[in-house]
Amino acid sequence: MLKALKQTTLRSLKTVGVSAMVHNSRWRRQRLLILAYHGISLLDEHEWNYTQYMPTSVLRMRLQQLKISRCNVLPLGEAITRLYMGDLPDRAVAITFDDGTADFNSQAFPLIKEFEMPVTLYLTTFYSHYNRPVFDVMVSYLLWKGREKTLDLNALIDHDSRIDLRCDDAQNTARVAILEFGRIQKLSAEEKDELAANLARALHVDYDFLIEQRIMQNLTPEEVTELAAEGIDIQLHTHRHRVPKDHDLFIREIDDNRQSIHAMTGRQASHFCYPSGVHDPAFLPWLTESGVVSATTCQPGFASPDSNRLLLPRVLDNTGLAPIEFESWLTGVSAALPRRRIPEATNLGSVHHRNR
Ligand SMILES: [Zn+2]
Repeated sequence: MLKALKQTTLRSLKTVGVSAMVHNSRWRRQRLLILAYHGISLLDEHEWNYTQYMPTSVLRMRLQQLKISRCNVLPLGEAITRLYMGDLPDRAVAITFDDGTADFNSQAFPLIKEFEMPVTLYLTTFYSHYNRPVFDVMVSYLLWKGREKTLDLNALIDHDSRIDLRCDDAQNTARVAILEFGRIQKLSAEEKDELAANLARALHVDYDFLIEQRIMQNLTPEEVTELAAEGIDIQLHTHRHRVPKDHDLFIREIDDNRQSIHAMTGRQASHFCYPSGVHDPAFLPWLTESGVVSATTCQPGFASPDSNRLLLPRVLDNTGLAPIEFESWLTGVSAALPRRRIPEATNLGSVHHRNR
């Protein structure tokens, strides 16, 4: 209801010319819109999680809208420098993708090339080296795939219950139990992959087919090297997709991530994105110590010269955002309207296991 009302308001503002006024205003010129994307579906991932995955056709519509709205899409580093120098062009936008899932190469990159837009990819590197599905998200996806079935957890993780997966709550209960089991047993990456394969088997889902399609997998180092050579800007997202609250572990996450990216691209990464949008005031001096010059969250909004450069807001574009809502972010009208909160949920789970 609220969403429908908002769309009606946005359409009215567009009709009477307010949107165009804001779009070309001094207020908008002093602001940078940073867009965030995650996965672009290979199969049906957006039906499982519409905030983290979108079909290629929706991404195409978004890039078209950026052109139609005459937005100036800038490389992230340049955009941030110019934001603080008060030197942004009209209607400035930066485009970012999180995680580095394999679909970026086959689904997003051809469109990015076609539309000739600069893009930053915040890459988490552990699963680039270990090229199997990301365990936490694969478990969640498999439970959704098996949503018509009843799962015998006893056979899988020695947990005495049978769960009817037909409702989301039940899928979540099973997910939590399986992830807990992995954590408590301190399973290695290989053991977790085996557990995911067993789960697929129990639910009659073809795991080998999903592997072949590269569902829930990350880009390989070779693919990252090629993408970087083609102009994709590869930046920091931690090695294991987590932000430990311990100083040394936090610094290690950035160091491992940066070294890995350097080996793949030959470049020093210095822009950071908080995994799952999780940020804490304690992290800011640690980021500075690590030589990080900007960090983005998933708090929706525009970056302005007053924004803390280590807490830059971003708009998480997703399949649930109507075209008029997306357009209103480009113009700036959305900044004045109440917002629906999109959970800062993660695409990738943190990597916690024995062999690192
Ligand atoms: Zn992430």
